[in-house]
Amino acid sequence: AVAIRLDDVARSFALPGGGTFAAVRGVTLEVRAGEIVGLVGRSGAGKSTLLRLMNLLERPDRGSVTVDGAELTRLGKRELRNARRRIGMIFQQFNLLQNATVFENVAFPLRIHDAMNAPRLKARVEECLALVGLADRAASYPAQLSGGQKQRVAIARALASQPAVLLCDEPTSALDPETTRELLETLRDINRQLGVTIVIVSHELQVLGTLCDRVAVIEHGIVAEEFSLDDHSAPR
Ligand code: ADP
Ligand code: ADP
Repeated sequence: AVAIRLDDVARSFALPGGGTFAAVRGVTLEVRAGEIVGLVGRSGAGKSTLLRLMNLLERPDRGSVTVDGAELTRLGKRELRNARRRIGMIFQQFNLLQNATVFENVAFPLRIHDAMNAPRLKARVEECLALVGLADRAASYPAQLSGGQKQRVAIARALASQPAVLLCDEPTSALDPETTRELLETLRDINRQLGVTIVIVSHELQVLGTLCDRVAVIEHGIVAEEFSLDDHSAPR
């Protein structure tokens, strides 16, 4: 099954001095369900824009975006909001609520979108925290956590809505190498255990080599090259 399909997607930005800059210039890309795909390339190549096109955080100027069976580019506001719940996203800087506990950070999307009773909500939050190895930190605040733990909270929050797809924008760039390795293992476990499809933007070759089934090289807003990686589950 196909989890994500971009069909001739393009996106330009207006330049301050007039004119436009074409950040993504016609990308056709398919990600299969359960796959882990990396987007690599130089800074400014268009990787982050491409990732944000996958949940319509950026609207394409042309082309279509289909995720988990829904053609996002044809949906109205309300339908899009529902479809987006199947797409989790995590960021380099974690984007946690600083004044909320770990529990409340993970519960946040559920409180907004789901009419879930308190025991079910608690069970779901605890399940997601357990998935990322933070079952014992529910009462902590983000400031009390390490960078790796903060990113795990962000992953748990993304998983709370049971997404089919997890979009990761430089998720390890703020982490040291050891913490990076642990986080990649967590992402791999989530992919294996839950079947969540993962797309990850990174400029770190080691990250991509460890985690990805396939890599797309982005250059000047297009996919310059795509390649599959060898069985990365072999001992390193
Ligand atoms: P990458 O993730 O590969 O570093 P980006 O997708 O962030 O690349 O950016 C690609 C190009 O598009 C860059 O030149 C960037 O300045 C430009 N760009 C990205 N987002 C915007 C925006 N919101 N407004 C104007 N220019 C943007
Ligand atoms: P079901 O979907 O019927 O609950 P699964 O085997 O898919 O069965 O899921 C097993 C458990 O994992 C369930 O309790 C479910 O809530 C949880 N789960 C499944 N997918 C996700 C996900 N993407 N994120 C978080 N939890 C999930």
